[in-house]
Amino acid sequence: MESSSDSNDRGGPYKPNRREFIKLMAAAGAGSLVGGSSQAAYAASGMGTHTKPFSPFKKVHAEIEEMYAISRDYQRMRQKNTVFNRGFWDKKVRPNFLGNVAKKSGMIPFPQEGTPGYSKVDWALHWAGWAGHRAGTPLMGAGARNTGNYDDWERHANPKFEPYAFKDRAEAAKYVKRAANFLGADLVGIAPYDARWTYSKWFDLDPSIEDTKSLEIPWDKMKEVEGVFPFEPKSVIAMAFEMDYDALKAPGFLSGAAAGLGYSIMPEVSFKVADFLNNLGYKSIPTGNDTGMSIPIAIQAGLGECSRMGMLITEKYGPRVRLAKIYTDLEMEFDKPVSFGVEEFCKRCKKCTEACPSNAISIDDEPSATSTTGSISSNSGVKKWYQDGEKCMLQWDRNGGTGCSFCITACPFNKRDTWIHDLAKVLVGMPVGRDIARQLDDAFGYGKKTDQAARAFWDKEV
Ligand code: SF4
Ligand code: SF4
Repeated sequence: MESSSDSNDRGGPYKPNRREFIKLMAAAGAGSLVGGSSQAAYAASGMGTHTKPFSPFKKVHAEIEEMYAISRDYQRMRQKNTVFNRGFWDKKVRPNFLGNVAKKSGMIPFPQEGTPGYSKVDWALHWAGWAGHRAGTPLMGAGARNTGNYDDWERHANPKFEPYAFKDRAEAAKYVKRAANFLGADLVGIAPYDARWTYSKWFDLDPSIEDTKSLEIPWDKMKEVEGVFPFEPKSVIAMAFEMDYDALKAPGFLSGAAAGLGYSIMPEVSFKVADFLNNLGYKSIPTGNDTGMSIPIAIQAGLGECSRMGMLITEKYGPRVRLAKIYTDLEMEFDKPVSFGVEEFCKRCKKCTEACPSNAISIDDEPSATSTTGSISSNSGVKKWYQDGEKCMLQWDRNGGTGCSFCITACPFNKRDTWIHDLAKVLVGMPVGRDIARQLDDAFGYGKKTDQAARAFWDKEV
């Protein structure tokens, strides 16, 4: 059954049912495009409960290079230069780091009763969402590896058991994926270890810091070390965690709660999967945003495509995911990169560009091989759209550290896993369908954070 709250959180009175949607497609000229095809039959069949993603245009690639041009001169990124890490040392970013300016100027949004998304209950949920992150690994979000639940590299790299003998690499992959899914990952894929995505130097907490759980970030206690693992990784397990659709559609503390919950789940599950591997005698390193770039690894593991806004877009949840990864010496069968029309759709869509309050997202029609932002936080060498992390961070600051995510909310790929989403994928796969899909997205009132969504969040029946 389609959720009744769908009608509430679109921010408009229009609630198309399945029949109206198909009529709309026909009216928009899409009917003739899918007429007679299996997709039309799919649409007309009055299919029942949605079960799995439907992507008639999905392509499986042998290598990531078949999807993105990667320069031979590509240089590994220094972790110190990521925008979060720059909050520790760069005067250009540091004043804007996680609400610093807002705090100083008194702009930080304390609970405001009567303002949807900013009330005391919204505020309370925001901090509850982040609680696991705060308790388990408060500094990972800023990039510090080997801290909190991601720590103990020494133990994880030295399991006390003999390696368990899987029948073959396919069997090893099967068991690891099922375990990761059981332990809490919504999507799991396995990529070969590719050193290009490991930061050339890691930006670490000074080991003399004992209280890594303190909310007080030790500004002057970070240092660089060579990005070299204590063992030779063979595979990387990429995991994605869905963020709550309803909360992300709401403004302020509620959408921040969705991001926080993702950050709280990442270390918990990552740590457990690393433990599973250790128990089987394999070395493993659980990581979040730290140590290496999660998005190219997730792409190599077949979880999704890179987008204009710079985020991974998955088939099932669109960009509404957080990512974590585990490096291991267990050799497994690898997944393959997949494409399902994201880059082509992004060329025309640009809804995230329009929605971004800080102009951090490119408006260029075509992706570029070199960074267009002029920021050291954009690592050139891959043909894609470059998002300006500095501008984005400034916006987070303006929002008082509650985050932003207007781009995720705006994205037409950000949908519930429903039949409408599947039909939209048919359109996305066809050149003429892409404009129609974007127009329908607007017509349905998708893409905006609304006060109504904040009220609907709490009214949802449980
Ligand atoms: S999070 Fe906000 S400021 Fe950052 S890119 Fe997205 S819309 Fe722009
Ligand atoms: S909003 Fe549109 S342009 Fe931006 S990432 Fe999503 S599909 Fe691409």
